[in-house]
Amino acid sequence: MNDAQFPCTSCGLCCQHISHIEPLAKFDRGDGVCIHLRDNLCSIYHDRPEICRIDVMYRKEYQFYFTKEQFYHENLKVCQDLQIRHGVIKGE
Ligand code: SF4
Ligand code: SF4
Repeated sequence: MNDAQFPCTSCGLCCQHISHIEPLAKFDRGDGVCIHLRDNLCSIYHDRPEICRIDVMYRKEYQFYFTKEQFYHENLKVCQDLQIRHGVIKGE
């Protein structure tokens, strides 16, 4: 699986909850929503920071701790928990 294959539903929730992500502090419009989120899409997608790129983050920091499958799986769990909490998808 690579960045383009990550099963993102474009719910926009990860970009609406960035207040705890230090590298994105300057993008927080004050309520946890990224200033670059437009119509639930990233308006700077091709220039988005590394923290928003799962492939880059894996290569630079997480490859030493996880297999790529594990890392994507962990990211997917966070992503799905967020969607369940906000009623975008149903939990089991
Ligand atoms: S929370 Fe997950 S599904 Fe929603 S936009 Fe972010 S990566 Fe995509
Ligand atoms: S820069 Fe783009 S991908 Fe990153 S949090 Fe903001 S809207 Fe989301």
